[in-house]
Amino acid sequence: MQLLDGKKIASEIRKELKEKIDVLKSQSKSVPGLVAILVGENPASQIYVASKSKACEEIGMKTKVEKFPSTLSEKELISIIDKYNSDNEYHGILVQLPLPKHINENKIIESISPKKDVDGFHPMSVGNLVIGKETFVSCTPAGIQELLKRYYINTRGKHVVVVGRSNIVGKPIANLMLQKNDYANSIVTVCHSAASDISYYTRQADILIAAIGQPEMIKGDMVKEGVVVVDVGINRIEDKTSSKGYRIVGDVAFDEVSAKASFITPVPGGVGPMTIAMLLSNTFKAYKLYGE
Ligand code: NDP
Repeated sequence: MQLLDGKKIASEIRKELKEKIDVLKSQSKSVPGLVAILVGENPASQIYVASKSKACEEIGMKTKVEKFPSTLSEKELISIIDKYNSDNEYHGILVQLPLPKHINENKIIESISPKKDVDGFHPMSVGNLVIGKETFVSCTPAGIQELLKRYYINTRGKHVVVVGRSNIVGKPIANLMLQKNDYANSIVTVCHSAASDISYYTRQADILIAAIGQPEMIKGDMVKEGVVVVDVGINRIEDKTSSKGYRIVGDVAFDEVSAKASFITPVPGGVGPMTIAMLLSNTFKAYKLYGE
């Protein structure tokens, strides 16, 4: 069994981007910029935004965090996004989800210019992904594919089984792996909570992608020997032996499944770091395509 070390690969990607940005700076050119918009006081969102912004700073990208109270109206948020849609210094706009209940997330996502949609959530980006056109692919699916690529995992004709059909992970990774491209071109099955026996599908997987949000749900007897496992899940479970009182586990029972897997992502240190690296990479791409 070999680990798919997302932490290591993400750090390589960040280094590569930093080198490119250093070149831009040495030529006195502008640099890529990302604005992150945070509405409300959700503690997890605050942590996510801070770590994304720190990652930008570390590679020399311009970054700004715009924080607003949860009383901000939908109309006000749209006008803030509009301002950044025409601001040449910011090539990527990220609106941290979830938003307060009175704000319609779909409306907000649609108000971001597709040219600055570095999260890849805009319907135009999603549509382009489905029809196989070059686009911004949302960061977690893009990170999974990049990880497979950097470990030279053969995906062509392989049976990829995705558990989960969310708009941010399950559906886009299924579409990505279906494309007639390198590190895709797979036979894809997507399953979800309506499946009466999920193991019927998971046992057939050459590559299993678990994006469920259920701690250690995929057990050793649910996979075949040699499977490649990508565990997207981030779940907190109680752990009295830890000083924090909890620990983070994935959707896959790591010890049991890794005994059968050829490759597997750890949690933490697998898909999570790749997601942030892809946000940086998408922002660099937005700069190259529309902002240089
Ligand atoms: P969602 O809750 O939006 O979707 C979960 C999916 O899993 C749904 O499609 C649901 O089915 C399916 N599901 C839930 N329970 C079962 C079950 N018992 N059997 C079969 N299918 C089931 O989650 P996300 O996609 O947003 O996230 C999934 C996990 O990945 C979470 O732990 C999240 O924290 C993590 N995550 C990690 C990221 C990273 O960077 N590493 C980024 C994003 C998410 P149905 O549609 O029928 O309800």
